[in-house]
Amino acid sequence: MIEVEDLKVYYYSRRGVVKAVDGVSFDVKEGESLGIAGESGCGKSTTAMALMRLIEPPGKIVGGKIQIDEFDALSMPDNKFRKEVRWKRISMVFQGAMNSLTPVYTVFDHFVETLKAHDMFTTKEEAREKAIKLLKMVGLKEEILERYPHELSGGQKQRVVIALALLLDPKYVIADEPTTALDVVVQAQIINALKDLQEKVGMSLILITHDLGVLSELSDKILVMYAGKAVEYGPLEKVLGNPLHPYTQLLLQATPKISGGELKWIPGSPPDLANPPKGCRFRPRCPKAFDKCKEEPKMKEVEHNHWVACHLY
Ligand code: SF4
Ligand code: MG
Repeated sequence: MIEVEDLKVYYYSRRGVVKAVDGVSFDVKEGESLGIAGESGCGKSTTAMALMRLIEPPGKIVGGKIQIDEFDALSMPDNKFRKEVRWKRISMVFQGAMNSLTPVYTVFDHFVETLKAHDMFTTKEEAREKAIKLLKMVGLKEEILERYPHELSGGQKQRVVIALALLLDPKYVIADEPTTALDVVVQAQIINALKDLQEKVGMSLILITHDLGVLSELSDKILVMYAGKAVEYGPLEKVLGNPLHPYTQLLLQATPKISGGELKWIPGSPPDLANPPKGCRFRPRCPKAFDKCKEEPKMKEVEHNHWVACHLY
């Protein structure tokens, strides 16, 4: 199980301290899938990078706790984390990763190099066997192994990248915007490949996307983030079926597949995180804002397992 408690990731920029993730808590049980939603810049990817312990200066994890199974991820030494946790226990498909495959490597070379990088390479035959098995799991055929990235379609590249993330047999896989920049048909293929992995391998997925439609297909529960804060958290049916936070409500109305009704934009834009609004960070854009919103709302369990940070509740 992954347990994140009051995570804070700040960037120390010349403009001041940017509080990219500012007190976020959630958990992911074995075999469970969590979707993290919100506009770009809300801290979704930073949260994921923190789970992988890949935050680079001027960024810093300044507070909170990340427990990944038996590992206290933030207090353990870096080399132990690298050896025992990163990629082996939790791995990640980075945003845009399919465009960073090495052009002079075949697909098979990518598998070999990844194994070598983790001291897991034994023989070519064994690597081949592993690669074929993983490619099959994401719906690709063996022939793909000898191809170069430029000979693959976008959907094939994305599936190769997912297969690579599974190479060290992780229990938890983070996928950051895995369907963004793909056309609708290919998106559906990737969604199905991920669904298959959840069902057949029992993998826990942490899915990051601004697309609530994609989340609704793959997540058991949802965390909605706004401007570095968690604003709503709970089981999929509750968060999307009965959204309580005004931001979640607007986000849903901006999602064609789900809302069904007239599409709406969320007016305004997210705040500057070096200088966020006092009180509720959504206040400048919130149609329901009132006096009390000048104070910061805390996460509250409004109904069983359904958490909301808003003074309306
Ligand atoms: Fe809107 Fe106030 Fe709720 Fe913030 S706390 S979302 S401003 S109603
Ligand atoms: Mg991102």
